[in-house]
Amino acid sequence: MHISTEAVQIGLDWDSRTGAVTVPIYQTATFRHPGLGQSTGYDYSRSGNPTRQALEEGIARLDGGARGFAYASGMAAITNLLMLFQRGDHLIVTEDLYGGTYRLFEQIFHQYGLEFTYVDTSSLDEVAAALKPNTKALFVESLTNPLLKVADIRALSNLCRERQLLCIVDNTFLTPYLLRPLDLGADITVYSASKYLAGHNDTIAGLVVAKDPQLAERIYFLQNSVGAVLGPQDSWLVIRGMKTLSVRMDRQQENAAALASWLEGHPTVAKVHYPGLAGHAGHDLLKGQARGFGAMIAFEVTDPALVETLLLKTRLISFAESLGGVETLITFPELQTHADIKAEIRARLGINNVLLRLSVGIEDVNDLIADLEQAFAQEEKGEA
Ligand SMILES: *Cc1c(COP(=O)(O)O)cnc(C)c1O
Repeated sequence: MHISTEAVQIGLDWDSRTGAVTVPIYQTATFRHPGLGQSTGYDYSRSGNPTRQALEEGIARLDGGARGFAYASGMAAITNLLMLFQRGDHLIVTEDLYGGTYRLFEQIFHQYGLEFTYVDTSSLDEVAAALKPNTKALFVESLTNPLLKVADIRALSNLCRERQLLCIVDNTFLTPYLLRPLDLGADITVYSASKYLAGHNDTIAGLVVAKDPQLAERIYFLQNSVGAVLGPQDSWLVIRGMKTLSVRMDRQQENAAALASWLEGHPTVAKVHYPGLAGHAGHDLLKGQARGFGAMIAFEVTDPALVETLLLKTRLISFAESLGGVETLITFPELQTHADIKAEIRARLGINNVLLRLSVGIEDVNDLIADLEQAFAQEEKGEA
């Protein structure tokens, strides 16, 4: 079944008694036992809740994995996965990583004796060079933030298999609609479902999918033990969002491609980072492994003064963090999403004082272009 069909089916046949077309929100903490030593299959909602289960089964199907898990946030999902490791273990990690993940690794898990090396995971050689005897996993973003570098998931998964490392892919920016890392050999996918999967900037959630049933058992043990599970209301919202994932993504990508070429031709834009542009370093690689190029754009303006103008003078486009929703958002990574990354690392990565990031939504693209146009024009008039 095509993934866009599969997504619409999530939770659809859950309640045969009433025939309800959407899964009910099972707002219950506990479940009555039918007899001594008997269970309906549900005992307590941390261990399992039907609404959450519909979401977990849904994401597992979309990703082609054995089992899915839903958490209270993307960070809670990543935290849970790091519990797979022990003091002294080493992980190789994408260097231009989501700022919150970097903070979690360096400021929290580092204290518990995990070691991290940050490399450009779009280079297989850099990853291979970072291997150590205690390396246990690779944690890679399929499309990085904010510079949209592309990782070769197939090649990295092969390397992981040879060295018996876990290959964990944060696939938030592409979603299973555009890229299925487990099909390419990865072991685990993780998502901030707060972004494209829920898709409406209205809920915080995280998802994990494991390919192998035994590994899934271990992750279930951790999810139930640690308990950062997603509540039934939010599980329902994520399911509702996921049903339209394919139409949103199609429109968002179409808009992003048009905006990227428009920005490229603008006189006060110095550089556009969008993997859909033929000149982007990851263009061919992404074309070979994904269904599309996503809807995130980073661009550099010619003058730092333009940054504030664009953030504050755009009217349709909101100056806000986060991404992946139906609304177009603009942000300034240096001060916002990536403030926790050390200044010298930011400089090396190219996260500078002229770099802006757009999460392109589903609006009419001409309205978006007109909005940026009028904001650029305000700087030219000196009104910023
Ligand atoms: C947002 C994000 C996260 C964190 O997810 P939350 O739902 O905000 O906790 C992790 N990875 C990536 C790539 C993200 O964009």
